[in-house]
Amino acid sequence: MCTHAPACPASDAVDHDAARVVADHPEQGWRLLCNGVVCFDDTGELLPDGHALGPQCRPLPRPLAVPQAA
Ligand SMILES: [Zn+2]
Repeated sequence: MCTHAPACPASDAVDHDAARVVADHPEQGWRLLCNGVVCFDDTGELLPDGHALGPQCRPLPRPLAVPQAA
């Protein structure tokens, strides 16, 4: 599935989430990587073989601060 050179990490590699994003749907909270892994905003992942990984122990991006009206 990956056509990059050098090839991105395979879906069963430890660093599989380092593959490039080929479809990004932030409005739905997920993105597809070129190795077939679907990553969700809560850091959960769906692997191409159908296995699901729960949210990972890594920090989520902080929401942008909303300026307060004076
Ligand atoms: Zn790739």
